[in-house]
Amino acid sequence: MSRPRVAIFDFACCEGCQLQIVNMEEEILDLLGVVEPVEWREAMSEQSGSWDIAIVEGSITRPEDEERVKRIREKSKLLVAIGACATSGGVNKLKNNFDLEEVKRCVYGPAAEMPHLDTAQTRAVDEVVKVDFKVYGCPMDKKEFAYVVRCLAIGKTPFVPGYPVCVECKMRGNVCRYEYGELCLGPVTRAGCGAPCPSAGFWCFGCRGYVDDPNVQAAKDVMTLYGKTVEDLRSRMLVFGSKQEHTP
Ligand code: SF4
Ligand code: SF4
Ligand code: SF4
Repeated sequence: MSRPRVAIFDFACCEGCQLQIVNMEEEILDLLGVVEPVEWREAMSEQSGSWDIAIVEGSITRPEDEERVKRIREKSKLLVAIGACATSGGVNKLKNNFDLEEVKRCVYGPAAEMPHLDTAQTRAVDEVVKVDFKVYGCPMDKKEFAYVVRCLAIGKTPFVPGYPVCVECKMRGNVCRYEYGELCLGPVTRAGCGAPCPSAGFWCFGCRGYVDDPNVQAAKDVMTLYGKTVEDLRSRMLVFGSKQEHTP
């Protein structure tokens, strides 16, 4: 059986998710047994122009990005979005809370008017083109990425948890961060990471995005129980949840 041809593309992001792939080390050699990389700016100089699976990192933030991701989609049998920037807009969506011209001036100063610094509202990849699969997180987890690629190589649908981080956190026997007077986004955030943050004594900041059907009322009840407000919750959601569906 021939290996699916894979191309990796990046848009607005820090490229940390691609680094996760590079950091897979020996595991990369195993993956090369099931897929054939044909285009990947960060790691190879060849440009194939033809592939089966496109892996897309980063958000769509400029008009030219929109055209480019549409061209990539047209050529792809499957498109996989990796990392929070691509799957939800992630940190990049913070700018959608402000006037974009003001944001540009704040970041670039007098250079803001240069044409290559053109900007637009940040969008997740699936707000522009169809996305077949998502690997969540900031950065994405390299083991989860390898699992998804292996599934796709054999035509299997990867499992993505539809329950919140609290489930995995409880399975690890953690004392809830709310008991320490902190505010944690575990109740509304998609599981699959294994709850590393609360397990290390830190609250979940929602890097995997909201679970499909978050129990917003239950989250509000938890706020009330622990003397927090919905405003507290909203402000904590700004980093990874700006302008997302389900924000209370
Ligand atoms: S999801 Fe996070 S690590 Fe990945 S590219 Fe975006 S900012 Fe970087
Ligand atoms: S610490 Fe966070 S993730 Fe863990 S149970 Fe409490 S709210 Fe849920
Ligand atoms: S616990 Fe929360 S912040 Fe930490 S990796 Fe999981 S989803 Fe991201």
